[in-house]
Amino acid sequence: MSYSIPAEKISEIKHGADILEIISDVVVLKKAGRNYLGLCPFHSEKTPSFTVSPDKQMFYCFGCGEGGNVFTFVMKQEGIAFPEAVRFLAKRYGVVIIDQTSGPGVKKQMDERELLFQINRQAMEFFHHTLLNPQIGTPALSYLTGRGLPSSILTDFKLGYAPPGWNHLTHYFSGKDVALALVEKAGLISRRQSGSGYYDRFRDRVIFPIFNTHHQVAGFGGRVMDDSLPKYLNSPETPLYSKSRSLYGLFQAKPFCRQTGEVFIAEGYMDLLSLHLHGIQNSVATLGTAMAEEHIRLLKGVSQKITLVYDSDQAGIKAAQRCIELFKAHHQLEDIRILVLPEGHDPDSYLRQFGPESFKNAARDASGVFSFLINVAIKKHGLSLEGKLRIIQEMEEPLSTLTDGLTRISAIKEIAERTGIDESAIQEKIRENSPRRPFRAKPAEKVPDAGNKFDKHLIAMMLQFPEIIPELIEKNLIEYISDPLLKSTGNDILNSYRDLDNIPEQVNDLPSIVLMAADNDDKKRIIAACSIQKEEWGLEGCRKLMSQIERNQKRDNLRLLRQRIKVAEESGEQELLRQLTKECLDGQVSAGGR
Ligand SMILES: [Zn+2]
Repeated sequence: MSYSIPAEKISEIKHGADILEIISDVVVLKKAGRNYLGLCPFHSEKTPSFTVSPDKQMFYCFGCGEGGNVFTFVMKQEGIAFPEAVRFLAKRYGVVIIDQTSGPGVKKQMDERELLFQINRQAMEFFHHTLLNPQIGTPALSYLTGRGLPSSILTDFKLGYAPPGWNHLTHYFSGKDVALALVEKAGLISRRQSGSGYYDRFRDRVIFPIFNTHHQVAGFGGRVMDDSLPKYLNSPETPLYSKSRSLYGLFQAKPFCRQTGEVFIAEGYMDLLSLHLHGIQNSVATLGTAMAEEHIRLLKGVSQKITLVYDSDQAGIKAAQRCIELFKAHHQLEDIRILVLPEGHDPDSYLRQFGPESFKNAARDASGVFSFLINVAIKKHGLSLEGKLRIIQEMEEPLSTLTDGLTRISAIKEIAERTGIDESAIQEKIRENSPRRPFRAKPAEKVPDAGNKFDKHLIAMMLQFPEIIPELIEKNLIEYISDPLLKSTGNDILNSYRDLDNIPEQVNDLPSIVLMAADNDDKKRIIAACSIQKEEWGLEGCRKLMSQIERNQKRDNLRLLRQRIKVAEESGEQELLRQLTKECLDGQVSAGGR
């Protein structure tokens, strides 16, 4: 693939972009020595092992082995390819990229997302203006103000109105000479059955633009103002929008989530706006879909405690079961709480009647997923002997999904406390009834566990103390590396080093240069891991390591020689024997008698 982003532009972006700033957008980072630590956005963990080095402009997760530079991070986080990541950062840091020679196909693909975002933004403006236009927007505006939403909320969330009729938006875009096929791709209009022409997807609905975490308009939700169906209509899945990867209000909520360390997830747009209105701004909403793994991933970067808000036990139970499904592979049940509002209340009516303080108190008392299910079971079956047995029966399934020993023990303890049945009896009961499942190990991509520790030290030393490289070249130490991947990485480092022509300030940039040049992910992980490693290499440490490696090498050579001598003795080759013995003696002298 030949992408035509000039190398100097890439380098300009690399130097302009701050990895700490980019990663802080999605991960809460705390300073730890020279580096920063946070919970990895790429795997599930409770103790931070995701490390960012502002000095090296690199990140590395000691839990799952994901690592790289600012481009790698954006690619992985946004699910985009390298050229898109370059453009993404260029835009953010005001670097202008003018396309030169790229083929039309490549350019088209790279620009399409950009165009779709533009189309969505124009559509958002169209809907918003329509809402505020007294001739057309009045019914929608009075619906929204009737629900208690002040104009500040309408502006902050850019609410809009799609007027009744089949082709308002279609006309709007054809009037602007925008290719309607692209508007269709953005999910805003659909092709007519007859095949010719398009019609508007959203008609006579209040419109809620859905922003991604970078304040780009990813999609839209539309709600009817009467009882017609469907009540909610969202954008279809498009290159920009996926319902299981989107949370309504996340962009606006992010700073408040960080501040409070907590996030509320409501069910619908109106719930969310009402929470914001009452000052509970650390809230988001799922878009008419069950919690998905991607949602958790999106939120993990912004807060560590998640509270799901529901207006009925039934919805809460469904969510709890879904969470348990989701967390089969993770160990995070206790970070999630389920808050069910009193019967007959949704967040809006609850907040109006009882106020935000009482909402917060209720949230403070909300139970974890497992406790919630125990509560529901107790409510359902009562605490008669018969009821208790039913409760245990009902908890078997969720219990069996707890793969983490400690969580499981504390869950059993809780059932015991709540029902008054002996812990061991519960354990017994569960063991006899449930088919034993194997404990599931968390899948994680580790750094390829290649080579011995000296090999890895050698790579780390080259990256962290490049001044040593000339000595290393002289001693030809790379040749001693036995693992092919580490050896090839070592040679890459040497090549990049030679290209630098010894310009001192560039030498400090070596890790990042090598990382950019690396041609596969395993190498990138090795480079990031070795660059960010805790121990720092200085001249003395490097020399020590090098002589250790040399000594080891000599010892291995001697061992080999002795084997060959033995063979020569057995086969009686006198001349060879004499030669090998001499080599062996020389070697022992230079190996310092070891
Ligand atoms: Zn990780």
